[in-house]
Amino acid sequence: MRVLITGGAGFVGSHLCERFLERGDEVFVVDNLSTGSIDNIAHLKGRPGFDYIIDSVENEQLLAEHIDRADVVVHLAAAVGVKLIVEQPVHTIETNVHGTEVVLRIASKKKKLVVIASTSEVYGKSTTVPFSEDADLVLGPSSKHRWAYACSKLIDEFLALAYWKERKLPVIVVRLFNTVGPRQTGQYGMVIPNFVRQALAGEPITVFGDGTQSRSFTYVGDVVNALVALIDEPRAVGRVFNIGNGYEISINDLAEKIKVMTGSRSEIVRIPYDQAYESGFEDMPRRVPDIARIQALTGYKPTVELDEILERVIAHFASSQIK
Ligand code: UDP
Repeated sequence: MRVLITGGAGFVGSHLCERFLERGDEVFVVDNLSTGSIDNIAHLKGRPGFDYIIDSVENEQLLAEHIDRADVVVHLAAAVGVKLIVEQPVHTIETNVHGTEVVLRIASKKKKLVVIASTSEVYGKSTTVPFSEDADLVLGPSSKHRWAYACSKLIDEFLALAYWKERKLPVIVVRLFNTVGPRQTGQYGMVIPNFVRQALAGEPITVFGDGTQSRSFTYVGDVVNALVALIDEPRAVGRVFNIGNGYEISINDLAEKIKVMTGSRSEIVRIPYDQAYESGFEDMPRRVPDIARIQALTGYKPTVELDEILERVIAHFASSQIK
């Protein structure tokens, strides 16, 4: 099978490239390195079956050529990370909406299977946990830029499902829940790489808000397992799937855990959301996936639990600091 991965030089994309190559599939990456990094795929250069180009998915001619040659398109290229979204809302909305529009339009001409990466952010402030795919979505007002990310991804979801309904383009929509693991950078605000870096550097560990908000973290290898299983399952087409791990932890407890696991002497400090992001910033209190749907269809089960995830991330940071 030949797989086109947009955003393949990103954190999730680079792990997905590895998995397909291990299976003997061919992989082609299109990535403009906006949040991805060439370092993420440097070890794959020269591997049989792997190639890439540094360009944007909005380069339609290039994309058309590569979609033509692919059996499946995994569309991961997007503006991600709450910090980036709050700081650059125009870029976020344009990239996420236009990029997906181009991918779907071109793929539709050739009827190629497209996987659209969405996010647990679409559940917004809903308190009906665990979140299941058909639940109502509760977003905040348009004056708060954070919600632009969820809205841009929701448009992607609507458009993908519309292409399936109206034009019979095979699509699969996945909502990823706080994916973490080695190679994720803290540069765009993500909490685990931030805390680990701070703890190892002896800097204050910055808990935003009162720290009672919770998240459920999924190991990137489990996300990759889920993506591959869905692509291999014809009955996944035309549907939306949560990909996550049901284990929930508060950000306070996460900070403590990372401090203990790194043997750090960093103090844990609390920073009001207004200072961390922007005035009036709204966070979601809890975020837990219901994974019954993907489990029933593919047998997917998370295999790496939080302590082991943290061990691997800490080891990754420690080794990249030595280099
Ligand atoms: N967070 C934090 N300190 C940081 C970065 C994030 O306390 O240095 C919090 C953030 O406010 C949120 C949670 O950790 O409540 C997860 O943040 P992240 O950006 O990783 O993902 P999100 O779930 O917000 O998309």
